[in-house]
Amino acid sequence: MLAVVYQGPDQLRLEKRARPTIQAPTDAIVRITKTTICGTDLAILKGGVDTVDPGRIIGHEGVGVVESVGSGVAQFRPGDRVLISCITACGYCEACRRGIPSNCANGGWILGNTIDGCQANYVRVPFADNGLYHIPDCISEEVALMLSDILPTGLEVGVMNGDVAFGDVVAIVGAGPVGLAALLTVQFFAPAEVIVVDVDDYRLELAKKLGATAVINNRDNQAKAEILALTNGRGVDTAIEAVGHPLTCKLVQEIVGMGGTIANIGVYSESAELHKQSLWVKNITIRMGVVNTTTIPLLLKTIQGGKLDPGQLVTHRFPFNQVLKAYDVFRHAAREQAVKIVLYTDESAETVVGDYSRYSEEDLIEMIVGQVVDRLGSDRPKTP
Ligand SMILES: [Zn+2]
Ligand SMILES: [Zn+2]
Repeated sequence: MLAVVYQGPDQLRLEKRARPTIQAPTDAIVRITKTTICGTDLAILKGGVDTVDPGRIIGHEGVGVVESVGSGVAQFRPGDRVLISCITACGYCEACRRGIPSNCANGGWILGNTIDGCQANYVRVPFADNGLYHIPDCISEEVALMLSDILPTGLEVGVMNGDVAFGDVVAIVGAGPVGLAALLTVQFFAPAEVIVVDVDDYRLELAKKLGATAVINNRDNQAKAEILALTNGRGVDTAIEAVGHPLTCKLVQEIVGMGGTIANIGVYSESAELHKQSLWVKNITIRMGVVNTTTIPLLLKTIQGGKLDPGQLVTHRFPFNQVLKAYDVFRHAAREQAVKIVLYTDESAETVVGDYSRYSEEDLIEMIVGQVVDRLGSDRPKTP
């Protein structure tokens, strides 16, 4: 099979690897049909995640078809269409039983980190009964793929940890895939205003389409002043940090108002200052954490009910064998106007890829995107 292998800082290779096999009775092997690249994968590529060893197949988001299951898997059978949670949960350790599977003693975020991940034709999913979800017939694979990580992360770590309530004013700092996922899901809680801050005009335009009531380009560092002006000097009730940089960490502390909550989603590769001297007097709550993906069943139902369409976050599609090109596009997300990139390995892709030499790369991409768009036309979630 083909797999994306981390070879050390700034080194990524598409390699031939042996297919994974069942190692424990609770394992499933899933044939990946769609996977995607996450900001975390870019952090790995920069050498910023020291638990990832060279030689590791990366990727922690994927959907596919169950190929085989161990004798202890009760809920899934070969042929089932499934989405893979980025969090592996044994279900019996203390963390799992306390509802914090991201801290599972036998799992947590291990896919594409300490065990081989989803950017491959096949992946081994440990504790498959807990880590896989059936995809309802009316939900497309592409939409389900957004539930492996980014939608639950935006919802659980941003919106729910941020205690967003009816009538609140919310600021989301960072309009990448996870910040935009927080924007899509925050609207279930009926905030009065959602202000989105970024430095990329394309992403801010998209944020407006997805429901932001105001957008601010912070390239001139005026976000603090503009948010205070928009809130009559009061600041926001919830400030969601979805970047993971000391400067955005500082910004959310400056814009949160009295009694407010800072919800930290961003992944930091260096330490960031906490200004307790100005936060304590405002009665600020700060929350942070790793996604547990316990909201996946609710998100699936919400999509089925026609109340949510995370497919709107997909901007690019590539056949899996062009994954390195896709990484290049994702690394230059602003230039390429990229949010979420879908890599697909299903039959329609293979038909086109077989004719690769007859077409220029541009022709090929256009043709593939056209095919996928055509195919998705009948595959979109049904709305009432
Ligand atoms: Zn991810
Ligand atoms: Zn556990």
